[in-house]
Amino acid sequence: METPFVDWLLERIPADARLEVPPGDDACVLRPPALRRTVVTVDMLTEGVDFILGPDCSSRQVGHKALGVNLSDLAAMGARPEAALVAVCLPRHNGSAIAHGLWEGIETLAAAEGITLAGGDTNAWDGGLVMSITAIGSVPPGKAWRRDGALPGDLLVATGSFGGSLLGRHLAVEPRCRAALEIAERFAVHAAIDVSDGLSLDLARMMRASGTCGVVRLASVPIHPDAVRMSRQPGDTRSPLEHALGDGEDFELLLALAPADAIQLVATGEELTGIQLSIIGEVRAGQGLVAEAPDGTQRPLPPQGFLHDFEA
Ligand SMILES: [Mg+2]
Repeated sequence: METPFVDWLLERIPADARLEVPPGDDACVLRPPALRRTVVTVDMLTEGVDFILGPDCSSRQVGHKALGVNLSDLAAMGARPEAALVAVCLPRHNGSAIAHGLWEGIETLAAAEGITLAGGDTNAWDGGLVMSITAIGSVPPGKAWRRDGALPGDLLVATGSFGGSLLGRHLAVEPRCRAALEIAERFAVHAAIDVSDGLSLDLARMMRASGTCGVVRLASVPIHPDAVRMSRQPGDTRSPLEHALGDGEDFELLLALAPADAIQLVATGEELTGIQLSIIGEVRAGQGLVAEAPDGTQRPLPPQGFLHDFEA
């Protein structure tokens, strides 16, 4: 029953000045903000791969996460959220209840982060829930944060803390959009990435893109209490630090800045953003990652995290 749901939805989408033609037509028409570039990202979540609907995971939480991961990618570009498009393939069984839950999760986060819902598509099939959100943001020309701008000598700054997200934070994504905008306004960020797949894996991606080596000071990695809780679970053989370096879905930001800027950011940024900020290491010439122990000894750090596998 697509049409009643879509009609119900269209009544609920608040009017927004950024939409010259709102959802409900064949396509929406956006008014792009003057003198800004458009940033576009898309992310898909699939039941059975990214989540399993059930007592521990409601469709409302999936809706929140689906938008949250896209907003996290906009934050990683230093972009201001503008508009989102939502495509959903619903399971036929219980599809209407799932759709309403998704909408609640999406709408609540969209309102909180100031992104307007510009349209979407709803299908149904005999498989599990699949949804894809395309998020559109904006940045001043030439100001998008990229992965490839880290320079030897830069310091690495992380928002928040890491590890154990599977205990619940992987669903309750808190995209760092506001923090990113506050930082972008005041500091020259050389490179940025959001941690979706693992602190060490995503840092390695930033270093590879920049053609540099990342030195992680192990004693400075901010460890989330969930990482400690997870390492204490029966059968878990990994330390809290290992969870922090490899678990992923923290949706925090990693930034590379010149040393003076990084020190100033960490000194003032928590008050500015309301989020803990830490220097976790530095950038040097070379490639790959190095772990620096508290006594100063260094060893190669193999990147760890989540990779989607598919056959060639
Ligand atoms: Mg990302």
